[in-house]
Amino acid sequence: MMRMTVLASGSKGNSTVISSSRTRVLVDAGLSCRELLKRMALAGEDPAELDAILITHEHQDHVAGLSVLARRLQIPVFFTEPTHRAWVRMLTPRTTMSYAKWLDHVQREKEARAASVAGEYSEPEPLSRSGNPDVALDLAADPDEDDLCGSYGPEPAAKKPDPAYLPAVEYFHSGTRFSIGDIDITPFTIPHDAADPCGFVFEAEGMRMALATDLGYMPPNVKAALKRIDVMLLESNHDLEMLRDGPYPWSVKQRVLSRVGHLSNHATAEFLEKDYDGGASWIVLGHLSESNNVPELARLAAEQALGNHPTLLGNRVVLAHQAIPLDPITL
Ligand SMILES: [Zn+2]
Ligand SMILES: [Zn+2]
Repeated sequence: MMRMTVLASGSKGNSTVISSSRTRVLVDAGLSCRELLKRMALAGEDPAELDAILITHEHQDHVAGLSVLARRLQIPVFFTEPTHRAWVRMLTPRTTMSYAKWLDHVQREKEARAASVAGEYSEPEPLSRSGNPDVALDLAADPDEDDLCGSYGPEPAAKKPDPAYLPAVEYFHSGTRFSIGDIDITPFTIPHDAADPCGFVFEAEGMRMALATDLGYMPPNVKAALKRIDVMLLESNHDLEMLRDGPYPWSVKQRVLSRVGHLSNHATAEFLEKDYDGGASWIVLGHLSESNNVPELARLAAEQALGNHPTLLGNRVVLAHQAIPLDPITL
């Protein structure tokens, strides 16, 4: 069994759950912790069963609820090192601390925290626990986070946690396969204006799912990564004419259109027509712009492009939403 549940997709927040029968990971946490928990409940995904969070890049629409959610669930977060650095810098813009000093500071803070609750709370093992379904999580266990994620009373006056504190951080490298539980993960570099952005291919139980959003164009390495995929979340950000005539200032239009911006309906259709191997059961179109796209235009472009492929057994096109979770896609 493999399942993809898109909780949100678009410039106001992105988050997707990828599951095998034994392992569950959340890709990006671009809504508030509270909203993410609400959407997981709506979609029938149990947050207590998440093993890890993976981050594609540090833009706000992919990390807005990250630290609060990770602390709440006490699960590790996987980044590339440049993305982690950029994220930390974003949360502590005025700090004069070097990165090494900051890591040291975080380590000491973690030790102090563990010491202060010794006896009632044991720090999770960073990576090895991720495949272990026996670890029970009490979602209301950490009073420090309650003010930020759920209605559990007022914020404690002192002791504001470091905004970039995470229970555990693991690094991966684009192009290098790693695994979490029984899911094999291959991150691939995407062209986008962030520190070290990536997409992912997930493989478990003989099935493969891929996520590729936030990319300015389809370079050869992405086309190669998107072969033999069963469920593919693909960006279809804007309609070129709507963007050109739309409300964005010229500089923003240039950014979106650039080689490190976002994929247009046209570019996605071109990929589907010329480079896609036609083998997916489902193609999920995501990261649609609310100002410069219309879902039916995105769908039409993709379906026309897929016209050349046999659609009897697959290539069903669905659109991911910004405001509500998509029904889980299970294989
Ligand atoms: Zn984005
Ligand atoms: Zn982005």
